[in-house]
Amino acid sequence: MTVSHFGVQGRGDITGLTSFDTPDLETIEGRRLQLWIMTLALLAATVLLLGLVLFWSEVNFPVWLPPAAVYLGLVTLVILFCVYAIEKELELRSLTVELMEERVLTAGLTNSLREAQVLLEAGKAINLRLDLDQVLETILECSIELLDAQSGSIMMMHSEDELRTVASAGHTAARGARVPLHDGIAGRVAASREPVLVRGTFDWMHYKPQPEIHRPSSAISVPMIYRDELIGVLNVNAKPGREYTKHDLRALSLFGDQAASAVANAEKFETQKVIAYHSSYQAMHDPLTGLPNRTLLQDRITNALARRRPPEQEVVLLFLDLDDFKRVNDSLGHGAGDQVLIALAERLRASVRAGDSVARFGGDEFAVLLEASSTVEAIAAAHRILRDLELPFPLEDREVRFSASIGIALERSRDASPDEIMRNAFTALHAAKERGKGQVAVFEESMHSSALHRLDLEQDLRLAVENEALDVFFQPVLDLADLSVHALEALVRWHHPERGLMPAMSFVPLAEESGLLPLIDRMVLRRTCKTVAELNAGALSQKPVFAHVNLSPNSLKDPNFITNLAWDVEESGLDPDWLVLEITESVIMQDIEQMASRLRAVKSLGVHLALDDFGTGYSSLSYLRSFPVDVVKIDRMFVDGIAKDKGAAALVQAIVRLGLGLAFEVVAEGIETQEQLESLVELGCRYGQGFYLANPLSEEELTTFLDRPELAS
Ligand code: C2E
Ligand code: MG
Ligand code: MG
Repeated sequence: MTVSHFGVQGRGDITGLTSFDTPDLETIEGRRLQLWIMTLALLAATVLLLGLVLFWSEVNFPVWLPPAAVYLGLVTLVILFCVYAIEKELELRSLTVELMEERVLTAGLTNSLREAQVLLEAGKAINLRLDLDQVLETILECSIELLDAQSGSIMMMHSEDELRTVASAGHTAARGARVPLHDGIAGRVAASREPVLVRGTFDWMHYKPQPEIHRPSSAISVPMIYRDELIGVLNVNAKPGREYTKHDLRALSLFGDQAASAVANAEKFETQKVIAYHSSYQAMHDPLTGLPNRTLLQDRITNALARRRPPEQEVVLLFLDLDDFKRVNDSLGHGAGDQVLIALAERLRASVRAGDSVARFGGDEFAVLLEASSTVEAIAAAHRILRDLELPFPLEDREVRFSASIGIALERSRDASPDEIMRNAFTALHAAKERGKGQVAVFEESMHSSALHRLDLEQDLRLAVENEALDVFFQPVLDLADLSVHALEALVRWHHPERGLMPAMSFVPLAEESGLLPLIDRMVLRRTCKTVAELNAGALSQKPVFAHVNLSPNSLKDPNFITNLAWDVEESGLDPDWLVLEITESVIMQDIEQMASRLRAVKSLGVHLALDDFGTGYSSLSYLRSFPVDVVKIDRMFVDGIAKDKGAAALVQAIVRLGLGLAFEVVAEGIETQEQLESLVELGCRYGQGFYLANPLSEEELTTFLDRPELAS
């Protein structure tokens, strides 16, 4: 028979299990009984006939029937029947043998499967990594061995209309090969759920024989069905010369069903394992970067301490924090912030050794655990990390650069707790941050006291705010054309009982963290409005000045901000037209809608707005068009480089030009030298502020400053 469908071509035949009419043992015994009854009946009939013949011989045989012919006929009949009976008996015997063989084969396969299942159960019990792959392999190995096959494969349902090869041995469909339902022998078996025996020489689908490999002349494919659901198809290909029989087909078919239940169990087990793994993974990892979280790091520290060989090896923990990360989040949004954190995680991973751990604690705080290290190595690693981080991070259509601070804690004692090491690294990080940007600090016992000190400082600041013990200094903003006072910027100061006069820089961040800054802002605003109102009405009545007050984003976010502002200005007696509120770019970028409406409300009171520290954020010049700012203050970073750096000079010039077009004033901050002053004047910058022109002054100092004769001229 030539078969040219189901993906095989050649001479041979394909038979389904149902096509075989194979009797079982009981039927064979029945047939044997029938045979013996027939034999006995025939013998009895022969004996009877012989009796009759003998009786007749005494009487008379007709002439046409001689007695010799009768004897010969009877003997022939008996011989023929005996031959028939013997042949039938032999056939029945061979059927019995085949059936016994089939039972042995089935028992063998079943035993192997049972072994596989026992293995699976044992695996579950002792939490061995016994996975689906192993079960599939065992099933395939058993099938190949017991059916003396040269190759075999298991295909599992991949989608509703496709099978995928999940295990394969010998030269047959490779792992991963896909077969559409109804296509090829396996596809047909899957579609019909009927086992199939193939005999003959075929060009097998997916079978790419190599010259030295013989093609199988026979193959069996059986469906694997569990609880009425088709799990997959089990295929075996006979060794050359071996022809599979219907018994092999039946045995493998039975095995297929049992294998299906083993696979289903293994799959269930696998799914449970995956779920368990995922939930434990989630509990131990940071979802954004995939790095270990604090809990997992604690575990690793404990293990690192236990593994360490004292006294020469130390466990080192580095705590890292980006110096200006908040600005990215504030100015470019959280999406951009997340991108930076992911890139940062990758960079950190790349800059440590394979055995070291990088973890994220949340925000922009990361930790690196170096096992079996030393102080020298730890400091070198910290500097290497800082260097790697200095390279720009590509972000949408721009690049951002960061510096980071690193705190290092080293631990020699086995008894130290992970919490203690983490606390120390955190304290060292704070110390590094206090030293400025991009610094590394190694933990020392004395730092604990400074951390405690910080707590004391916060408490002192709270008291100072409550008792209105903070002071306001004023730094003049001068008109660079005639050096006359154009405005006064209010800068908060703190006369600390032990630390002396503290500039805003040294406590404003603390005030912001502890939520005290809005209170401070309001105090500064009220005092400044009052002072400048008095000056404008008195000493400066000929040439009134603007009052510049700094405002933190949190102050603006306060829902009562506009009402309070209107009230405070009104109460101070200052004409709102002389008040300028300084905000930073981060304010504008936060909640754009809310902030824009707040800023419009400020303007509707007649108060002006200044954009402070311009150039340090990431917002583009285009924002200057959409926000109603009246003054732009160029950050001192640009003023600093103006005489030497063409880029800085170009930026100043661009802002000056933009100011002319968009009608805002431009103030240069941080003028420290005559040279800078001259460059700014040359670039057309109208206003300036800086130590070269005037320091921040107390009220008394301000009075003296305003009385200076050169100012009057
Ligand atoms: P800012 O608003 O940019 O203020 C200018 C800062 O630069 C002041 O520091 C001032 O002393 C300093 N400065 C002025 N001229 C020069 C110079 O020529 N060279 C250098 N290197 N620095 C100069 P200060 O008072 O420590 O204030 C730091 C920052 O703290 C301020 O920056 C402002 O953002 C904030 N701040 C100050 N007072 C307040 C306040 O009342 N409320 C709020 N929210 N923030 C304030
Ligand atoms: Mg300012
Ligand atoms: Mg500034």
